[in-house]
Amino acid sequence: MSIGQNLVDMHVHSTASDGQYTPTQLVHMAQNLGLTTIAITDHDTTAGLAEAKNAGKQFGVRVLLGAEFNTKHPNVDGSFHVLGYGINPIHPVLKDVCADFSAQRRERAERIFDYLKTLGVCPSPQRVYEIAGSGVIGRPHFARAMVEEHFVSNIQEAFARYLDTPEFQRLDRIKPHPKTAIEMITQAGGIAVLAHPSLLKLRERTLSSLVSELKDYGLGGIECYYSTFTPEQSQEYLALAEQFKLYSTGGSDFHGEVVKPDIKLGLGINNSLFVPPDLKILEVLRD
Ligand code: AMP
Ligand code: FE
Ligand code: FE
Ligand code: ZN
Repeated sequence: MSIGQNLVDMHVHSTASDGQYTPTQLVHMAQNLGLTTIAITDHDTTAGLAEAKNAGKQFGVRVLLGAEFNTKHPNVDGSFHVLGYGINPIHPVLKDVCADFSAQRRERAERIFDYLKTLGVCPSPQRVYEIAGSGVIGRPHFARAMVEEHFVSNIQEAFARYLDTPEFQRLDRIKPHPKTAIEMITQAGGIAVLAHPSLLKLRERTLSSLVSELKDYGLGGIECYYSTFTPEQSQEYLALAEQFKLYSTGGSDFHGEVVKPDIKLGLGINNSLFVPPDLKILEVLRD
């Protein structure tokens, strides 16, 4: 066995959204690490999945068809991301909604340029679009250009000072309710999973009552293993998954060293990620 102790990584971003590597490169890297299964879970798009699938055949890696939708719940302030697995990437509903999200992100990009200009830290738009390439545009593309042009010394600083502040939130796009994402994933034949519950900032309700609400919309799983989780957090989410009869999932949220320097594919932070190779969901997902 190679250095990677995990066989499975169900949370990986490619150049189709804000990741550094192409779907083919990721599948090849997965093979080199000894992973048998990876899911490509780009933000608000399924555009990388066909390429990933082909690469999976080429390199002998099982590729799960995934996506991660950024949503907003009225009672939750933090990142409310809903993962979808086993989706049909060309389902009409999914295609239409992803096209809308992509257009909204392009509109937001123009607002972000104006905002960064007023602060005197605006990178060249041409460079930002070049970094984003054909992928849906997101904040990390801005952050990378800001580092290159020395407005900040690293990506973390770009987020802390400019891209993840209350001022930024005011110009952010209107995101769909998690219910919309869960229903869409289900309609497209997939299983909807609550991503990294530790990043939610719950205002009024406990995680348990939130999960109960999401289950009514059709939630099928909870991400119980993740790069930044402590063992205690994993235990808490596993208990919730069991209580609500939901699948458990796990993955690194790898974006590449340039975007998230401390997170490694299949290994997490300092090799601390553990994803059980026998997750039940892996038996039921269609490829
Ligand atoms: P967006 O989808 O454009 O709103 O950007 C969200 C993405 O930005 C997340 O998926 C992460 O990849 C990245 N991100 C958010 N906060 C940070 C941070 N503090 N440091 C680095 N990347 C971040
Ligand atoms: Fe991201
Ligand atoms: Fe996420
Ligand atoms: Zn992610």
